[in-house]
Amino acid sequence: MPDNKNSLTGFSSIAVHAGHTKDPNNAHLTPIYASSTYVFDEAEQGMRRFSGEEKGYIYSRWGNPTIAEAEEKIAALESFGVMDKNGNALQLKAILHSSGMAALSTLLISNLKSGDKILTHFSLYGGSQELVEKILPPLGIEAIIVDLRDLNKAEAMMKADAKIKMLYLETPANPTIQCVDIEELTNLAKQYSLTVACDNTFATPYLQQPFKYGVDFVFHSTTKFLNGHGTAIGGVLLGKDIEKMNGHVTKVHRLLGGNSNSFDAFLLTLGMKTLEVRMERHCHNAMEVAALLESHPAISKVNYLGLHSHPDYYTAAKQMRHPGGMLSFEMKDGLEASKKFIDKLQMCLRAVSLGTCDTLLCHPASMTHFSVPKEKRALYGITDGLIRMSVGIENVQDILMDLEQALNP
Ligand code: PLP
Repeated sequence: MPDNKNSLTGFSSIAVHAGHTKDPNNAHLTPIYASSTYVFDEAEQGMRRFSGEEKGYIYSRWGNPTIAEAEEKIAALESFGVMDKNGNALQLKAILHSSGMAALSTLLISNLKSGDKILTHFSLYGGSQELVEKILPPLGIEAIIVDLRDLNKAEAMMKADAKIKMLYLETPANPTIQCVDIEELTNLAKQYSLTVACDNTFATPYLQQPFKYGVDFVFHSTTKFLNGHGTAIGGVLLGKDIEKMNGHVTKVHRLLGGNSNSFDAFLLTLGMKTLEVRMERHCHNAMEVAALLESHPAISKVNYLGLHSHPDYYTAAKQMRHPGGMLSFEMKDGLEASKKFIDKLQMCLRAVSLGTCDTLLCHPASMTHFSVPKEKRALYGITDGLIRMSVGIENVQDILMDLEQALNP
């Protein structure tokens, strides 16, 4: 990385170089630091490190150089070109976790207490939904779940209940690809002094930067597009209140123990270097796939943000660079037709997860959202015939050919 970080002008330049510090042995890439602890030259040094008087590593649950590189890179990408309220380049602190769910747990536990409520949208990743609906309530934290695309309803909820302390967004949302308006909702939430957090997993900072709209926290399952190759589970929590991130949030992260590890951090760093080129290809391929599916007689509905038929087309166009690599669609003949189609695929893979180089398809009702009761699934638009697709970076004609042969009787 050049000494003057601000001299880099492009997203990929940042993606390739940010976070790297010169290795003492001149290794091109930061090595995988496979060491759980760090040695002090003398007792005094250990004391200085613990008191914070001297910077340096202590214990790998608290971080190490391989983890630090990945954290700094993602912070640089989420803040790239974003200004703070005083017009200065936004500073962010990122904390890498062992999974997206671990990052979400740190976010919730470091910001909410018994008696508080969290306001969120009805279409969320199944695990996030279960966490807020099943794990938080016994801790005294209640989730209020509404359609946040209805701004009047969102404001009415915020106004009516002073116990709501956090607005939690996931946009685009899993698996319906619904979008909520980050700017409008954040403006409303700030009138009621709410903390705003956004899951940016589906978009990545290349397509969408929620900090531009004033959110307080962003989190990712880095398992997905940021890693890009399906090689490691991981998560990251980013915040702009540096004092709070370095203080209470770091404390919660360290004590809950959802830390990352050097090998996964190394893989994530490699993956993030190609984020822009991969996302361009994911989005280009997804648009072609959506067009094919929309015109196919076996399909009744396609949820893709690049299609004018998507109800959130304009919200996505406002806040995202491109409509993303994720889509979902419904087979006219329901569950049996969906199963038959999925089983006939030859190149595209039957798997949950998303954001990998290869195209992955899954059936949310029986897989990612199996634990969400059927009546709630119906309410959220997760029908039995719905198939979710993470469009890969293969040559698009091969994806289209595979889909066509699997759709044809
Ligand atoms: N957020 C979204 C949008 C997801 O799709 C997922 C996982 O699929 C998660 C969070 C949880 O991430 P992880 O599986 O890395 O814990």
